[in-house]
Amino acid sequence: MTTRDKNLRPRTRAIHHGTRRSQYGEMSEAIFLTQGFVYDSAGHAEARFQDSGPDEFIYARYGNPTSRMFEDRMAALEGTEDAFATASGMAAVNGAMFSMCAPGDRVVASRALFGSCLYVLDLLAKFGVEIGFVDGTDLDQWRDAIRPGTKAVFFESVSNPGLEVIDIAAVADLAHRAGATVVADNVFATPVFSRAVDLGADVVVYSATKHIDGGGRALAGVICGSRDYIRNTVEPYLKHTGGAISPFHSWIMLNGLTTMDLRVRAQADSALSIARALQGHAGLARVIYPGLEDHPQHDLAMAQMGSGGTMIALEIAGGKEATFAAMDRLRIVKISNNLGDARSIVTHPATTTHQRLSEEDRARLGITPGLLRLSVGLEDTQDLIDDLTGALDG
Ligand SMILES: *Cc1c(COP(=O)(O)O)cnc(C)c1O
Repeated sequence: MTTRDKNLRPRTRAIHHGTRRSQYGEMSEAIFLTQGFVYDSAGHAEARFQDSGPDEFIYARYGNPTSRMFEDRMAALEGTEDAFATASGMAAVNGAMFSMCAPGDRVVASRALFGSCLYVLDLLAKFGVEIGFVDGTDLDQWRDAIRPGTKAVFFESVSNPGLEVIDIAAVADLAHRAGATVVADNVFATPVFSRAVDLGADVVVYSATKHIDGGGRALAGVICGSRDYIRNTVEPYLKHTGGAISPFHSWIMLNGLTTMDLRVRAQADSALSIARALQGHAGLARVIYPGLEDHPQHDLAMAQMGSGGTMIALEIAGGKEATFAAMDRLRIVKISNNLGDARSIVTHPATTTHQRLSEEDRARLGITPGLLRLSVGLEDTQDLIDDLTGALDG
């Protein structure tokens, strides 16, 4: 099943696609824990270095059979021609953007981004790339900012932590008219609910650390895109700058993918029940969940993903002190900063993931002292509701 079968549905592809068996016919994917490969002759080595095709491995920084299985499976799931796996989600964001930009280029990005994504854009600016920031939910701002000749647009299709939903089709239409490449960081949408490529994204990046692993075990990332972009733009950049994924981590991700569909759907179902149960709680100023009818982009989220996803943002009444007190009362939900894990996790973005931002920037992104980000895990839904309401009740 190394050739893509479009007739197979994603859940089947997530289990079988991309599998390459060695001469031993192993059932589970083999871990090729090797930095390099042996050549039959000096001439063979020379030939490989001159023309290493996608199945010709020469050094694990360039590619590895276990990692190639993960890449092929991700490309099949996302609906792109190819993919390149990386050491982390940030290596993927960095690789996707730096590999294609040159001084003088213009990139337009949504302002509501994960702190490290903002750092990468600041770094691009330092090297002479002009960055225009917009409010991602305001199409007029995208229209004004995307000028002819814009190199790329970048956004988190569902933003971290405010859960704003970007209209991928509308932004892609504006971008393509200007000749720009559309890069979507699709972590919060998850590969299960992603239709980013159908909607017009050219490049989709994931932190596989999140839902793809699903168990909070290993860092990894992946860039999905056209064969030309992946092999002629991304690969040269990443293979020489060293963002390579470990074959062991690729193997963890391959295993994660086999259960991802079931996990993410169960987590999203649970998230909707939890959001509904918490709505109107006296300890909360607001429950932000794209699956709730009162979310400003609810209709868009449903059309674009068919789900509100696995993440909820809670605005606690009473600011930082009340928020910390509620967090400290949680017994099942863990205080940490990963997401997409089987274990439910709360994060206080203002003092952790987004503490690098100025207070003004945080306010602009809705990251108030009372904002909590909740990643819904796989525990029993009612136990989670009881834990959360117990913590809020005080
Ligand atoms: C976690 C995350 C990243 C970075 O991924 P790492 O695997 O931690 O490097 C990038 N973008 C988003 C939206 C994330 O949630």
